Amino acid sequence: MLKPLILIVEDEAPLVTMLRYNLERQGFRVDEAADGQEAITKIAETRPDLVLLDWMLPALSGIEVCRQIRRRPGTRDLPVIMVTARAEETDSVRALNTGADDYITKPFSIDNLVARIKALLRRAGATPSKGTLKFHDIVLDLAAHRVTRNGRKVHLGPTEFRLLEFFMQHPGRVFSREELLDAVWGPDIHVEPRTVDVHIRRLRKSLNGPNEADVVRTVRAAGYALDIEANS
Ligand code: CA
Repeated sequence: MLKPLILIVEDEAPLVTMLRYNLERQGFRVDEAADGQEAITKIAETRPDLVLLDWMLPALSGIEVCRQIRRRPGTRDLPVIMVTARAEETDSVRALNTGADDYITKPFSIDNLVARIKALLRRAGATPSKGTLKFHDIVLDLAAHRVTRNGRKVHLGPTEFRLLEFFMQHPGRVFSREELLDAVWGPDIHVEPRTVDVHIRRLRKSLNGPNEADVVRTVRAAGYALDIEANS
C-alpha cells in the first residue's frame, strides 16, 4: 500500500524541515506549501491524504484555506489538522468550527503530532470496514464511506462520519463525551471534552434537513445518543 501523503502548509522553513524529517522517518510521504494559495494549488494537484495546516500564513490564512477545502466537493472529506500558535480555547474551538478535524498547539512534540495524524487517518478510513448500517431514514455505507438520509446524500467530515458510525452501531444508547472521545478519537489522544460538542453540532447540521427530525439527542449532564423519538 502507498504510504500516506501529508501536505505540510507552513511558512517557517526550519519547522518545515524538522517536520519533513520526522514524518518521513515515521513512514509518511511529505509535500510542502509555504502559503495558503500554494496550499490550495497543491491540494488540487497532489491529492494529499491529510493536511497539516498552520493558522498564521501569508497570502491566505489557514482558516480561509480550511473553509475552501470544506466548500469544494472534491476535498470536503480531506482530513485537516490545524496548527495554532496560542493555547487559548477560543482559538481551538474556532479552528474546529471552520472545519478542521483536529488541532495542535505550538510548540508541540513530534510524538503527539504523529499520534494525532495516525488517529485521524484511521478515522478517515485508512482501514475501511464493510457493509451498511441503517437507522430510521439514515443509511451509512461503510465500504463506500457514504451517508444518505431519506435518499439525500449527506456530506460528513471524517470525524463526523466516525461519530455517526459509532452511534449507529449502538442506537439509543447514551454516551458521555469521554466515552465518545475514547471510541472515536482513540484512548491515547488527549482532546478537550467540548471538542465533542463542536463535532456533534457539525454532525447535526449536515444530517438534519429543514423538515427532518433531529436524530442526535442531548442528554443533560450525561452526553449524547442517536435517538429519534425523543425529538419528534
Ligand atoms: Ca506561520
